[in-house]
Amino acid sequence: MSYDVSKTRALFKQAKQFIPNGVNSNFRYWGDDHTLVVAKGEGPYIWDIDGNRYIDYRLGFGPIILGHGYGPVVERVAEAISNGTVFAWTTPLEIQVAERFCRMTGMDKVRLANSGTEATMHALRIARAYTGRERFIKFEGQYHGMHDYVLFSTAGTPASLLGSRRNPISVQSSSGIPEGIRRYVINLPFNDLERLEETVAARWHELAAIMVEPMLGNAGCIMPRPGYLERIRELCDQYNIVLIFDEVKTGFRIATGGAQEHFGIRADLATFAKAMGNGFPIAAIGGTQSVMGMIEDGGVSHGGTYTGNAVGVAAADATLEILETQPIIESINQRGRELMDGIGEILTAADIPHYVTGLPPMFSLLLGVAEEPLDVRAYGAGDEALYERIAMALIERGVMPENDSREPWFLCYRHDERVVADTLTAFEDAVNDAKH
Ligand code: PMP
Repeated sequence: MSYDVSKTRALFKQAKQFIPNGVNSNFRYWGDDHTLVVAKGEGPYIWDIDGNRYIDYRLGFGPIILGHGYGPVVERVAEAISNGTVFAWTTPLEIQVAERFCRMTGMDKVRLANSGTEATMHALRIARAYTGRERFIKFEGQYHGMHDYVLFSTAGTPASLLGSRRNPISVQSSSGIPEGIRRYVINLPFNDLERLEETVAARWHELAAIMVEPMLGNAGCIMPRPGYLERIRELCDQYNIVLIFDEVKTGFRIATGGAQEHFGIRADLATFAKAMGNGFPIAAIGGTQSVMGMIEDGGVSHGGTYTGNAVGVAAADATLEILETQPIIESINQRGRELMDGIGEILTAADIPHYVTGLPPMFSLLLGVAEEPLDVRAYGAGDEALYERIAMALIERGVMPENDSREPWFLCYRHDERVVADTLTAFEDAVNDAKH
C-alpha cells in the first residue's frame, strides 16, 4: 500500500518554525511524524496536501454537523458578509437566530459568543452572580474549554493522580494556572451519586453551579446512568444551585434540542458552540429568564467585539434553520447506528473485547474491556495501544478517527450509506492489521 505524506512532512517542518509545535491548538499535535497539514474538506472528506483523501470522523472536533463546505451555509455567510461584519449594534439576523435558538433549545433567553470557552466562562460568572456563591462542581474527564476555572482533571489526567474517589484531587491540566483558582472547583467522579449527594449536602452554601457535560463528550462518550442527571436536577432545585449543561458537543447534535431534549431535563443555563454553526465560529449561553436576568439588571458583564458578528450569525442562521426544518439528525442517527453496530460486529468477530459507548451522532470505542465504563477512571483500563494501532491503520486506508479513543467519532449528514460501508471495509482490514 502506498501512503505518501512527504509534502505534508516538509510543510509541517515550516509550520514548526513559526507556530509552537506547528499547530494552533495543542490538541492537534500528534507528534512530528503524524501531524497532518490539510488542504481542503468537502462533505464527509478531507484531503491532506499530498492529495490523500480521508473519510473524516474528527470533523474539526465536532462542529461539522452537515458536512464540510456545506453549500447553503457557505452561501448564507457569503451573502451576509458582503454587507459588512461588525457594527456594534444589533442586527436583524441576530434577532432571528436568537428566536430560533430559544425555540429549539427551550431556553428563554440567549447571549451569543464566539467559542465554547467563552460560553462556559460567562455561564459560570452568571451562576455566581445569581447565587452569590463562588465554587462549582464539575466531573472528572470533562472539558469545558481553555479558561483557568475549568481546566482541571480533564480526560488526559492519569487516574493515578486523581486521588481516592472519597476525596478526589483537582489536577490542573496546564501549567500557568494560579494555584488559588483550584479552590473554586470541585471535581467528582461521574455517575457516582453517593459522592455527589454527600458533597452537595456538606457544601451547598458554597456552590454556585453544577456544570455537567450530559454525556462525557470529551471522555469516551460515557453515558449518564439512568436517573443520574435527574438527581443532579433535583439537588440543584433543593439547594438553589444553578444547573449548567455544557452542550458544546451535544448541542444540535444528539437531538435538535440537544441533551436537554434527549434526556428530558431542563437546565438553568446551557452552553452551545460547535454544531450551531457547522464549522463557523459561533457560540451561545442560553438560560431561563430568571438566571439570564442577571445580565439585564444583576450587574453581570458579558460582551466582546465579535459577539454577534455576521460570519458566525449567518452560519448559525442557515445551520439551525436546516436542522430545525429537515430530518438531518434522524438521518445521522441512522447512519451512526449502522456504523456503531458494524464496528461492534467486526470487533466481536476479531475476538477483541470492547464496549461501544455513546449515541450514533457521537460515540467512542473502548477496547480490551467488555463492560460499560461509568467514569473516566474506568476508561483508563482500556487497551489504548491497540486502539491507536487500529486508528493509524485506518488513516493509512483513508479513514480518519481521532487517535485517542477518548475523543468521539463524530458523524455528519454527508456520511451516507456508501461512506459508512467504505468505513466498515477499512475498519475490518485495519483490525486485522493491528492485531498482528
Ligand atoms: N465544552 C465542551 C464540552 C467542549 O467539548 C469544548 C471543546 N471541545 C469546549 C467547551 C470548548 O469549546 P471551544 O474549543 O470552542 O472553546
